Amino acid sequence: MTFSLAIVGRPNVGKSTLFNRLVGKRLALVDDQPGVTRDLREGEARLGDLRFTAIDTAGLEEATDESLQGRMRKLTERAVEMADICLFVIDARAGVTPTDEIFADILRRKNAHVILAANKAEGSAADAGVYEAYGLGLGEPIRLSAEHGEGFNDLYSMLMPLS
Ligand code: GDP
Ligand code: MG
Repeated sequence: MTFSLAIVGRPNVGKSTLFNRLVGKRLALVDDQPGVTRDLREGEARLGDLRFTAIDTAGLEEATDESLQGRMRKLTERAVEMADICLFVIDARAGVTPTDEIFADILRRKNAHVILAANKAEGSAADAGVYEAYGLGLGEPIRLSAEHGEGFNDLYSMLMPLS
């Protein structure tokens, strides 16, 4: 059995870096899938012997008439509905921000199955942010560094039972 994982979180926490590391160049062609816009990128992810579909929530950075918060909410809700599990990413160097709290709230309201990742966690500068992440009430955060490829064994351990 396979599953789909939506990577959600506010802009700049490292979602796309993580997506690219999991998917590499195995990007799905999403253009001909109804209801899927370029705001949601889908790809065939590999992590060890796991194969799953990863969904990156992009497009939040583009300026439009709609408020960032409104777009974030809609996109995240759509990703949650599409996916079996959500990987909620925060920036451990920045700590938990008010925007992160809004995302956590969306995920709780949607009753999403959430795995929490504290990204940019390479080095001790991230320690305080990782501890803050416990306060979100979404379980124990995985310490990740998408850029440096750290913490992927822990991510594997969380995903393995779902496969
Ligand atoms: P997104 O907006 O959530 O998709 O974030 P991006 O993947 O575009 O990354 C935003 C910035 O964070 C980029 O400059 C990345 O290089 C950087 N970044 C991503 N992952 C890490 C990480 O693990 N450690 C550090 N220090 N920077 C990272
Ligand atoms: Mg991105």
